[in-house]
Amino acid sequence: MKVTILGTGDSPGTPVIGCHCKTCEDARKKGWERLRFSILVENNGKTILIDTSPDMRKQLLKANVNRVDAVIWTHSHYDHFAGFGDFYRVQNNVAVYSSGEVLEDVGRFMFFMKYRENQVECYEPFNLFGVDITLVDVTHPPMRRSHGVVLNYMGKKVVVTGDTNPAIPEKSIDEMLNPDLLIADAIAPEGYRLKKHMNAGEAFSLAKKLKSKKTLFIHVGHFYPPNTKYPLARDFESFEFRGVNLEDFL
Ligand SMILES: [Zn+2]
Ligand SMILES: [Zn+2]
Ligand SMILES: [Zn+2]
Repeated sequence: MKVTILGTGDSPGTPVIGCHCKTCEDARKKGWERLRFSILVENNGKTILIDTSPDMRKQLLKANVNRVDAVIWTHSHYDHFAGFGDFYRVQNNVAVYSSGEVLEDVGRFMFFMKYRENQVECYEPFNLFGVDITLVDVTHPPMRRSHGVVLNYMGKKVVVTGDTNPAIPEKSIDEMLNPDLLIADAIAPEGYRLKKHMNAGEAFSLAKKLKSKKTLFIHVGHFYPPNTKYPLARDFESFEFRGVNLEDFL
């Protein structure tokens, strides 16, 4: 299983339109950016997208994705679904997965598109192309539902918190425990008090609570200085997870 973080930015992305802070100016000067939130999961030659960011076209072209086999939507904020239309014209009837509430809310914006809805329940794993996937509830007011995503593949575990504040339900924490890789919402450094998201300190506390082996911050805003000590993910950073092959031991 290969996991590629296609976009590490918050909803305006970095640089922010019209912003001349140190970080945005650094991005313009050096030519780097943070695209909006989407994660590509590849296994057995198939592709799954966790969220379809407004930068989808650029992300799919750059990551050489020829075809999208499934989409999981974590919640119905613009920066997490709006790019679905970018491959709607090249590919019809894509299978999408989420809770009934999220499908309904996103569906109001997507009324003119055809796709195959698959309603899934939180805490009930389903399998896509050899990867076990479990959605969990997280807390992202004023959204009525927002989900984290837990990927299990041959003994390896990747947890994506999705957009959440630190008040994650204990039932979700139980499901998220002991990840090999935690991809955590941390929109701003410590000291920022936020209602919808975690700051870096809160994301570190979550990593500790979950006993995460490796943690990366995502949904990162321009609030971090250009050269920060925090473990911010980079756009298009990718990770391979190989299961244990019994034949290696024979
Ligand atoms: Zn977001
Ligand atoms: Zn800025
Ligand atoms: Zn959101």
